[in-house]
Amino acid sequence: MAESDLVRTKGTTPVRRRPSAGFVTFYSVFPGFGAFAPHPRRNHAESRLMIATSTTTSRGSGPRIGIVGAGPGGLATAMLLAHAGADVTIHEAQPIIGGRTRRITMGDFAFDTGPTFFMMPWVLEEIFSAVGRRLQDHADLHRLDPMYRLMIGRPDADPLTIDATQDVDRMAATLDAIEPGDGAAFRRFMRDNRRKLELMTPILRKPIRSLFDLATWDAMKVAPTLKPWQSVHGNLSTYFRNEHVRLALSFQSKYLGMSPFECPGLFSILPFIEYEYGVWHPRGGCNALMDAMAEVFVELGGRIHTADPVAGIEFDGRRATGLRTASGLHHYDEVVVNADATWAMKNLVPAPLRRKWTDARIDSKKYSCSTFMLYLGIDGEVDLPHHTIYTSTRYTENLADIGAGRLTEDASTYVHNPSRIDPSLAPKNASSLYVLVPTPNDAAGPDWNEAGPTYREATLDRLGDVFGIEDIRRRICVEKMVTPADWRNERINLGATFNLAHGLDQMLHRRPQHRLEDVDGVWLVGGGTHPGSGLPVIFLSSQITADLLCRERGLDAPTAWSPPDGASSIPRPEAVSV
Ligand SMILES: Cc1cc2nc3c(=O)[nH]c(=O)nc-3n(C[C@H](O)[C@H](O)[C@H](O)COP(=O)(O)OP(=O)(O)OC[C@H]3O[C@@H](n4cnc5c(N)ncnc54)[C@H](O)[C@@H]3O)c2cc1C
Repeated sequence: MAESDLVRTKGTTPVRRRPSAGFVTFYSVFPGFGAFAPHPRRNHAESRLMIATSTTTSRGSGPRIGIVGAGPGGLATAMLLAHAGADVTIHEAQPIIGGRTRRITMGDFAFDTGPTFFMMPWVLEEIFSAVGRRLQDHADLHRLDPMYRLMIGRPDADPLTIDATQDVDRMAATLDAIEPGDGAAFRRFMRDNRRKLELMTPILRKPIRSLFDLATWDAMKVAPTLKPWQSVHGNLSTYFRNEHVRLALSFQSKYLGMSPFECPGLFSILPFIEYEYGVWHPRGGCNALMDAMAEVFVELGGRIHTADPVAGIEFDGRRATGLRTASGLHHYDEVVVNADATWAMKNLVPAPLRRKWTDARIDSKKYSCSTFMLYLGIDGEVDLPHHTIYTSTRYTENLADIGAGRLTEDASTYVHNPSRIDPSLAPKNASSLYVLVPTPNDAAGPDWNEAGPTYREATLDRLGDVFGIEDIRRRICVEKMVTPADWRNERINLGATFNLAHGLDQMLHRRPQHRLEDVDGVWLVGGGTHPGSGLPVIFLSSQITADLLCRERGLDAPTAWSPPDGASSIPRPEAVSV
């Protein structure tokens, strides 16, 4: 991502801050997920200094496992496998861990590279718990209220502003004020989606390798509730009369890099999960969770080689025998790939060994959108909430442009302003701003060498005109720009930041599986596999991969899941608390 860095650092002194008073220790009591007590906070700035290259405990004596990539999926799988007794080594191409969830540091400013919305914290808690740790010992999670501000662009008026809150009464009143009756519809939407998430949980938590696996889920019985034939927008239209309200509860399809008009209606669970369980900010950013996982993995005896890109998987016939990396040839009994799944299949597994995932098949798939990013260290405070999402006045055209490879002038834009509540991310009287504009992926988009600087100017104008940030250009202390071409350069197929699209034709058994077909000893994990992109489901994919691999190798599967007997498979909202 280095090519388009524009770093201008004004002299600032390094500071290490204590957690702000607004931070509370993550502490939860999940029925069926274990009970935990509050625990003193940790200083994550210190743990971040630990580069996980040495071991503090003896290595596992089980199978030798090499992992390609230290993204969220790789790190979570590594923790689970190391705890199960395997001898695990991660090879990471970048100089630091975390993948698309890594930390960007410029002077005294710090930013999350990708994820900023952390949801469903109990999934990560399960992983920590499975390896004998408690997430709250390693992370400070702050529940946001309001969760985010929506600014819905309107052609003939100022944007309609909605502060999304978990307070259902307040939210219903807000929606009723926009369209009488839509408040009651919101309550119905929440009730129906609670049931929907409950029904979907078995497929999110289990490998779906074939129609047979799907049949055991009793798809026919749940279809009338899940209505898989609807799009998210179609589904919401059965509840809400107002188009702005529909937008407020469907823009979340963009979390998967999709348009709500194409995204399967199953994903109406995304807004439901926000309103039911909250949106969280880990102190230091989502990247701090990566540090926490790496730290535990190393404590469990694992090793991480950073700046050690894997050039290929070694095979003896169809059996994987190791990894060829910048540091040499490493022999392994099993290989787990956390690199972008379609990129990795094409680039790390020789074509003659791939019958199912041929290059032609990979190229014929549909891919998510990409993102244009600005990471800005700003002089002074910025009067914006933690998350602000602006949707274009030409929302549907903007979506169509993204699909067609065109850039939109008045593009939907998301601004993250975390240093307001998390002073560890910027110096005093300064702000670290993260700006994300969804764009076409790099299959059909523009030449970013030319388009990048122009798009930067348009985005900065929008930060002033729409978001109301005054004098933005003069206040920039440090800056980094990332375009779809940069994402592509860091081994993400077509720069499609959210991996393969999540249409029904590319989900479940049609998505790359956790055990790569046609070869032995190669496993996949991460957003390019089932269930899909987004931290919580990536952590679920790591549980599935680790469980399958452990079973194959006769190790105790640390997080094997089966439907709870008679109890709900989703936590009660009041149990997800601090
Ligand atoms: C801009 C953006 C915003 C996002 N926002 C959110 C959000 O708010 N909430 C959310 O839940 N999710 C979000 N996501 C989606 C998702 O959670 C992240 O992309 C996540 O980091 C993906 O994790 P992963 O495990 O699939 O792999 P990655 O994070 O992609 O990690 C894979 C790792 O493999 C390494 N690698 C690749 N090739 C090789 C090789 N040959 N040798 C060695 N190492 C290699 C890479 O360097 C990388 O470190 C966002 C993503 C992006 C890009």
